[in-house]
Amino acid sequence: MADIIQLLPDHVANQIAAGEVVQRPASVAKELLENAIDADAKTIKLIVKDAGKTLIQVIDNGKGMTATDARLSFERHATSKIRSAQDLFSLNTKGFRGEALASIAAIAHVELKTKQEQDELGTLIEIEGSEIKNQEVTVTPTGTSLCVKHLFFNIPARRNFLKSNNVELRHIVDEFHRVALAHPDIEFLMYHNGSESFNLPKSNYRQRVVNIFGNKRNEKLVPVEEETEVLKISGFVGKPEFAKRTRTEQFFFVNNRFIKSPYLNHSINSAFEGLMKEGSHPTYFLNLTVDPKSIDINIHPTKTEIKFDDEHTLYAILRSAVKHSLGQFNIAPVLDFDRDRNLDTPYNFENKRASTPTVEVDRSFNPFQAEKIESRSNRLSSSYKKEPTSQWESLYVGLESKGTKTENDFSEVQFESQPETPSLFDDDKQLETKQTTYQLHNKYIISTIKSGMMILDQHRAHQRVLYEGFLKHLTVKEAVSQQLLFPLRLEFSSTEMEILQNLKEDLEHTGFVFSVFKDIIIEITGVPINVPESEVSIILEQLISDVEQEVPDSNFSATDLLAKSMSKSLAIKTGQSISRLEQEHLVNSLFACKEPTVSPTNKVTFITMSVDDFDKKFI
Ligand code: ADP
Ligand code: MG
Repeated sequence: MADIIQLLPDHVANQIAAGEVVQRPASVAKELLENAIDADAKTIKLIVKDAGKTLIQVIDNGKGMTATDARLSFERHATSKIRSAQDLFSLNTKGFRGEALASIAAIAHVELKTKQEQDELGTLIEIEGSEIKNQEVTVTPTGTSLCVKHLFFNIPARRNFLKSNNVELRHIVDEFHRVALAHPDIEFLMYHNGSESFNLPKSNYRQRVVNIFGNKRNEKLVPVEEETEVLKISGFVGKPEFAKRTRTEQFFFVNNRFIKSPYLNHSINSAFEGLMKEGSHPTYFLNLTVDPKSIDINIHPTKTEIKFDDEHTLYAILRSAVKHSLGQFNIAPVLDFDRDRNLDTPYNFENKRASTPTVEVDRSFNPFQAEKIESRSNRLSSSYKKEPTSQWESLYVGLESKGTKTENDFSEVQFESQPETPSLFDDDKQLETKQTTYQLHNKYIISTIKSGMMILDQHRAHQRVLYEGFLKHLTVKEAVSQQLLFPLRLEFSSTEMEILQNLKEDLEHTGFVFSVFKDIIIEITGVPINVPESEVSIILEQLISDVEQEVPDSNFSATDLLAKSMSKSLAIKTGQSISRLEQEHLVNSLFACKEPTVSPTNKVTFITMSVDDFDKKFI
């Protein structure tokens, strides 16, 4: 077979945000397992000694490498998986950065043995701290074996940072579970210190879940299947009565890639609402398939976070699919999601005679009378207010001047901002002053400016607005907090608790008020002004996951991380429709920012196009 690896052009390499690939032994295990999957292996073995501190080895029976490829594979940005930046938008492989092997070889002793099927002999390469110590022809089975010893041998600080064997092994097992769950069609084996920890034969998905988590799991799984234009869902949720106290058995895979998404997790929680005991968490193993073009995997170096084009819609579909399954399998008492409870027949009324219903008619209603329409619409919007209100409120997060809006104000505003049909005789001038913004595909806000037009990315722009607001509060150390009527209790694992405790002071400066209620339960009595209560768990989970993914010894600022994380959780999502008034407010708030041009993660927030640009296009 011909050599297939080639160097990526520099600009593509730069485009792929470089990041620290290896944080701990588990990151090595993950990268090697993923390479084996990308090599189409049918059987993959993971061998670990002393929680990976002494040895991490992955042996696969995949396609192997030629001698030249074997050598090239250790070069930075050397990959066979993408060739242009465009390919980033249609990824089908796990890897694509071409930096895992290079990074690992720079900080460990690595031994690679690889052979392709048609070759008689394979290649052996030994590298220590990026230095090639040996390369020779060797006898080895078809496939690849990569053996990583003495991780961080040349970075003592990193080595000392490693946690106990128990903790590091836990991380490796977690990675192993994630990869194995995403690929039930591949056989996986894992050994630790010479004994077999997992033996997972090729199987269907249910069997894979059972093989990993134990036989008792089988009867507790409820299948979830849904297929829509934008999203295909398949997998299982655990029956509510078996919900766990911890969040360890929650798995989302997007296009076979494990991801963490506090936002989507929230949609599952809301589907289980009312079915579980307080403080317990649903278990789920869900595979989501979306068009690769609609996601961006490249936003995080360790790639467990991805960005969806239309997260808002995914949230809704996921929630109703899970609800539907729970209903169908007779787990949820109510089949119809939004059924009016008043229509249920209470049992002791069953044999009563029906009385003639009275019909209420609003006799004063005149559809042609503008004022009446307004009050009806107000009523409507107050009964369906929940979501629009929270969106609206979140627009104001961090902007105290408007922070004291009451619910009534919101519904009024909502009505005003509903599109009015302009009379035919309205003159143009008047229209112009009325509408200066327009929302495109629930994603961009288009606004007219003097020189032409401006197009804002609503999610990024809002992140910037929120970020600066939070940063201000955090540095001035005074935030407005809104007290909760009923304290909110949330449960976390002990490592998560540690993270929260470390950030407690900073969190308080954003407006959170909380105390430890019992070992691993915190009680929240106050939240930042206009942060809806329903979003609190998303914010904290996102924050914990952001801290966990932070490179351990880089001196990151907790304040900045907190502001970034919270603005990410609370910003209007792409896919979310917002009223014209909200649009205008967003535009104005963005330009009141110190750095309106980029999002907190340095992505462009808006572009402009001048009338000249248009003129040129119309030649
Ligand atoms: P990436 O996976 O992002 O391409 P890596 O540094 O992990 O980057 O690997 C570099 C290249 O080495 C891969 O593109 C692939 O061609 C080759 N490679 C790595 N591991 C294996 C393996 N187990 N089997 C076959 N080829 C491999
Ligand atoms: Mg790789």
